[in-house]
Amino acid sequence: MVDEQATGRAIPEPILNWTLRLADEAGHAAPGCEPWRTLGQHDAWVGRYPTAHPPLRVQEMHAGRCAEFAKAGYLMHRVAAGTPYRISRLFGFWHISDADLTWLQVQRGDLTLYLALAGGATGLRGDHAVAWYCARCGHEIARQAFARAGRTGAFLAERSRAAVAAFNATAEGRRCPACGWEHPPAYPFSPLDPQAADAPPPPW
Ligand SMILES: [Zn+2]
Repeated sequence: MVDEQATGRAIPEPILNWTLRLADEAGHAAPGCEPWRTLGQHDAWVGRYPTAHPPLRVQEMHAGRCAEFAKAGYLMHRVAAGTPYRISRLFGFWHISDADLTWLQVQRGDLTLYLALAGGATGLRGDHAVAWYCARCGHEIARQAFARAGRTGAFLAERSRAAVAAFNATAEGRRCPACGWEHPPAYPFSPLDPQAADAPPPPW
C-alpha cells in the first residue's frame, strides 16, 4: 500500500458524507447520462434513459452459464467482486473486478434511471479484467487482465477500450477454441447508444 500512496494512486478512505442527486425534489429528471464520478471509495455512474430505449440488463457468468437479472420496475442488484458480468447495451465485454458493483434501476414515468456504484471497500488493488464467452458452449474465448489499473469508472470508460479494439482486430481471436463459434466484434462503454448491439449471451 505504501508504494501506491507514494504514487498517489491509492483509493482513498471513505468520504463519509456524500450525496448523489438522481432527480429533483418532485422526482423529475431529464434524459441523459453523466460521466463516471468519484465519491470517496465509490465510483458512480448515472444514466437516465427514455423508457422507449431497450432496457439495460445485468448478466453474470457462473461456471460457464449466463444468468440475467431482468425485472421491470425497481431493482437493486449486487455483482460480487470477481464475478464476470456485463450490462447489456452499455458495454460489449465482460468485466471482472476486485470491487463489488451495485446496480440500481428505477423505472418511473417515461424515464428509467440506472445507477452503477462500484467500490466502497478499503484496500482494493484496482485489479480488472475483460473477457468474452462463447454463445454456443460458454467457453471463455479471450481474457485480458489489468493489474492495479485504477478505479472502475475510468477502467470501463477508457482503459478497457484498447482490449476491445484488440479483440475486434481479428476473427481468429474471436473464435471459440472449444467449438469454433465466432464471436461478433465487441463495442466499448457506450451509454445511451441505440446502436449498441450485444453479442448473443452464453447458454443459460
Ligand atoms: Zn464454443
